[in-house]
Amino acid sequence: MPSLVRSNSIILPDLDFTLRRQFNKTGFRPFQREIIQAALDGHDVVRDDERTADSGYCITIVVSPLLSLMMNQVEALRAAGIDASSFNSNTPLQERDQILADLKSGHPRTRLLYVTPELCATDRFRDRLQIVYDQRELARIAIDEAHCISEWGHDFRKDFKRLSWFRESFPEVPIMCLTATANDQVRNDVLHTLCLDTEPDRLKSFTMTAYRPNIHFEIRYTRDEDDRRLEDFLKWIRSVYERRSQEPRRTELAALGERPDNVPGIIYTISRDECENIAAQLRQEGIGAQPFHAKLSKEVKEQTLAKWVSNEPGFDVIVATTAFGMGIDKDNVRFVVHWRLPKSFEGYYQEAGRAGRDGNASYCFLYYSREDRDRVCNLIIRDRDSKSSNWQARASSLKTLAEYCENVTTCRHKLICDYFGESDTPACDYACDYHKDQAELQRRFLRGLASEEWVSTQREEGLLDANWDE
Ligand SMILES: [Zn+2]
Repeated sequence: MPSLVRSNSIILPDLDFTLRRQFNKTGFRPFQREIIQAALDGHDVVRDDERTADSGYCITIVVSPLLSLMMNQVEALRAAGIDASSFNSNTPLQERDQILADLKSGHPRTRLLYVTPELCATDRFRDRLQIVYDQRELARIAIDEAHCISEWGHDFRKDFKRLSWFRESFPEVPIMCLTATANDQVRNDVLHTLCLDTEPDRLKSFTMTAYRPNIHFEIRYTRDEDDRRLEDFLKWIRSVYERRSQEPRRTELAALGERPDNVPGIIYTISRDECENIAAQLRQEGIGAQPFHAKLSKEVKEQTLAKWVSNEPGFDVIVATTAFGMGIDKDNVRFVVHWRLPKSFEGYYQEAGRAGRDGNASYCFLYYSREDRDRVCNLIIRDRDSKSSNWQARASSLKTLAEYCENVTTCRHKLICDYFGESDTPACDYACDYHKDQAELQRRFLRGLASEEWVSTQREEGLLDANWDE
């Protein structure tokens, strides 16, 4: 079979070369190569059908739910010399006109166009895309964060449901769905909604295991009446700094140009105020911590992120609300701490999974209290009446997460893999609190938490009504 060569394109047969040249990376992440190859194979089929594009023009539409993520990716692609654009409510009028004109030509110069699901529902966009399709220039549709399509996904978005339009209007154009975390229920729902389950032989599926052996998972029990999160965290981080300051580690780190206190990490919390408070308290204690949340200016956010990514002193720890971290390319995150219980199991796992992408040992711990469990539950119940809410799915995910936290008789890695539908039990090498010391875990569980009686009394008095904003 002749190989597919397009000059001036991101698609070249030598994937390793392309990776090095365009993205300055030396190796693929697991499955990246196979997925790209499968997409390229789809192209070859398309070419055999004489839907060829000898001109070298061919556009991929990427549907993405998050504006900030979209901007980051377009910037990164442009920096790598790829003609990428985004089209959403923030796009300046002039640029919008340019993109629409580019599509209307039928032979767009743009290689990758990032759009929101809301935009995909507009007639103007649909008409233009039809022109591109008629000219046989529509290469593929990629749908990012595809779990948002499913009502069983934790961040369900209504307009995602209407994306079945792609398959109905452009039956031969391959569709790629990308998501970090989806259990079977979510996955089937996504395929069904997009009408991809009607032709199973066209479907190629790549599932990464949820098992991350280099991450140590731990739950730390606490209660409102005896909240020692701050001192506990300080004690832990100082012990890490201490170990790194001792010989021979100190000399090793110096040779690598690393400071002993350069231990990059993320602390997730649930409100903006708490985000600011924790960062300020940590700074007072000499830890290089910075807040990150939606209310900060774009400049401050960009600067904080850039300095954290480049390991600058004073920017070792990011204290963030939940949206932080999507699409961020930083391999050496050594810890992720959940200051409060996240709202869903998927959210917890996604955030924790930002640690240790370089494969080195990393630490994830979550401060769990039953009071927080009921606070988060109240937030979900409060949304129950809003029309688009999938509150049952959210409540069920939260319940599983709380049970995970209160489980002291099973490996954390196993519980995570079970949740994502994997039947094989991973071999855990002391990489969770259960395997590290079962007796100690049970002792901490019994001593740390408030009793259910106490918590329900508090709840009845309305003391657990949270007023958290992200
Ligand atoms: Zn374990």
